[in-house]
Amino acid sequence: MSRVVQFRADDGTPLKLTNVRGDREPTLGPVLLAHGAGVRSTIFHQLCGPLTEAGWDVWLLDWRASIDLPPRSWTLSEAALFDHPAAVRTVLAETGADRLAAVVHCQGSVTFMMALAAGLLPEVDTVVSNAVSLHPVVPAWSRVKLRAGVPLMSRLLTHLDPSWGRRPPPELTPRVITALVRALHHECDNTVCKLVSCTYGSGFPALWRHENLTPEMHDDFIPHEFGPVPISFFRQMGASVRAGRLISNLDGLPRDHAAGPPRTDARITLLAGAHNRCFLPDSQRRTHAFLDRHAPGRHTLHILPDYGHLDVFLGRDVHREVFPLILAGLRRQDAPAAIDGVR
Ligand SMILES: [Zn+2]
Repeated sequence: MSRVVQFRADDGTPLKLTNVRGDREPTLGPVLLAHGAGVRSTIFHQLCGPLTEAGWDVWLLDWRASIDLPPRSWTLSEAALFDHPAAVRTVLAETGADRLAAVVHCQGSVTFMMALAAGLLPEVDTVVSNAVSLHPVVPAWSRVKLRAGVPLMSRLLTHLDPSWGRRPPPELTPRVITALVRALHHECDNTVCKLVSCTYGSGFPALWRHENLTPEMHDDFIPHEFGPVPISFFRQMGASVRAGRLISNLDGLPRDHAAGPPRTDARITLLAGAHNRCFLPDSQRRTHAFLDRHAPGRHTLHILPDYGHLDVFLGRDVHREVFPLILAGLRRQDAPAAIDGVR
């Protein structure tokens, strides 16, 4: 059973929350789930059951990067400042709760953690973050693409879109990119899978290990779950990768999101797949070191030895190998707060 709640971000952008209910009444309060760039909240479909069975009231957020919303240019800063505070307020208003937990992935994690560290989400108790948060570290070839490819692409295109592999577009540039990716990637027969690797990382494939996916997940689900991602995102991510931490240029946010102590009392569990070829596991290691410097022993880091990026949610064995870590991370709000200067 699910219920959709339409709401607006704080700059007026229409967004969507979906409340997923299981067979039992929730006993643990609301949990907000934020997807990555150019996908949608359906990436969490395997996690919803375990969350509701554990007693969580599950709220799937489709923020401005969702392919379920009209395509638009967006930046990480806009999502941090306008989307997540409004989403948290909406969930609290809908549920009557005064605190909530969150599971956040990739750019959903980056933007949520930017808002959290900036003090914009004081109602958040616990966070489980996958892949990357405040310190993006990418493979060498991705650095080249961000530095040289993005300026070139921005003259030719407004966005990249792995669904070109399923629906060839009429324009020349997307057709050339798709043909090149087909010629250079031989890891499988799924052109969307290959375009995902080219768009988001450096690997064959970059976002998952093929051996972690069922044929149905690889052949039937993934081709329909990727859509446009704007060049405006890659521009800000490129500047942040070069700086080694998230950089903003928007009034209301710090310019450097890791310059000072994080303004939150949330307990944070960071996950990273050892085989992630989109954001290297050093991304989460650096954010953990940053968090630990300001609150020693308070936060947790798990490197998942057999996982990549999105197979942390889409893999065939995640119910056994990953989800117990997520459920344990969400229940960490009972321990005493210990961050200097924050309650
Ligand atoms: Zn593939």
